[in-house]
Amino acid sequence: NSQLNPSYVFENYIEGDCNRLARSAGYAVANKPGTTSFNPLMVYGGVGLGKTHLVQAIGNHIKSHAPEKFVLYVSSEKFVNQFVESVKTNSMQDFANFYLLVDILIIDDVQFLSGKEKTQEMFFHIFNHLHQSGKQIIMTSDCPPRDLKGLEERLLSRFKWGLTADLQSPDFETRMAIIQKKMQSDGIDIPENVIEYLAYSVDTNVRELEGVLISLIAQSSLNRKEIDLELAKNALKHIIEDVETEVNLDFIQKTVAEYFNVTLDSLKAKTRKKEIVTARQVAMYFAKEYTSHSLKSIGYHFGGRDHSTVIHSVQTVSDLIDTDKKFKASIQELQKKFKSKNS
Ligand code: ADP
Ligand code: MG
Repeated sequence: NSQLNPSYVFENYIEGDCNRLARSAGYAVANKPGTTSFNPLMVYGGVGLGKTHLVQAIGNHIKSHAPEKFVLYVSSEKFVNQFVESVKTNSMQDFANFYLLVDILIIDDVQFLSGKEKTQEMFFHIFNHLHQSGKQIIMTSDCPPRDLKGLEERLLSRFKWGLTADLQSPDFETRMAIIQKKMQSDGIDIPENVIEYLAYSVDTNVRELEGVLISLIAQSSLNRKEIDLELAKNALKHIIEDVETEVNLDFIQKTVAEYFNVTLDSLKAKTRKKEIVTARQVAMYFAKEYTSHSLKSIGYHFGGRDHSTVIHSVQTVSDLIDTDKKFKASIQELQKKFKSKNS
């Protein structure tokens, strides 16, 4: 048993600028395990960006094209637990022997080995043996190897023998494609404007995006209602409010509108009245400062303005802070409202 999840395959792993190198290196390894220079292959990136999916896709590909090979997927946590157990039962040699039989070893989240010296020693031994025999090693980590604290230098230096490739947060187009693909494979109709709305709004990671989709599908069947923009906004509220630890965009817009005594709608409208323009620019400035929304996403939430408008607004506000004492004082007053909400 390889411990692989059969649904993690290349066919449903959307390619984008955010994952191109890692994906194509992974694909090369999947076709020629152990014989490319990508050995070990180390994939790193933040939570929910697709590390586990990608490395399991490699494993599944090898399993179906070269069924004689012994592919093993193991989380580092499980590796540590198994090792600790083998120490207790005095069966470390069995533990080692089992791993030495593997042709393709996929070990997920190696940051978890940090500080576990005995386990690292065992892993070092297994790594050397497998690598020398031309077996493929694939690893993931939540940060680049140079930032892995608590891992032995000799182990880290081996991680660099092959290829290290990162996964970035998915860009807008990739998010669109991921939503399309997921809904398609679930056989669910989703209007284009809803896909766009979701792709603009959820720009942190793929797992969160999937969470929103699940909630959207659930609400649609619960309310016996086709998926539309209103439903999407609702689904987003349920998910985002729970996970958002920062000040959110709505709160910033409301607070700034109130402070400047303009309506919330006017921030998103076309009007170029001076006091409204100022309020809008200030709200964009705080959105940039206090949320993780991209410039594109911020623009979208201010009446569909483009990202260069957001850049201009942020710049204008920064300049005013430097040159206008009264303005600076207002910004500081507003800042306090956001800071107290933040902590
Ligand atoms: P990580 O291991 O980096 O935390 P996962 O591999 O568990 O992330 O991915 C989180 C979820 O997002 C999974 O359900 C996965 O299928 C999905 N996912 C991530 N990247 C992609 C992608 N490029 N295409 C399709 N689905 C993706
Ligand atoms: Mg993972």
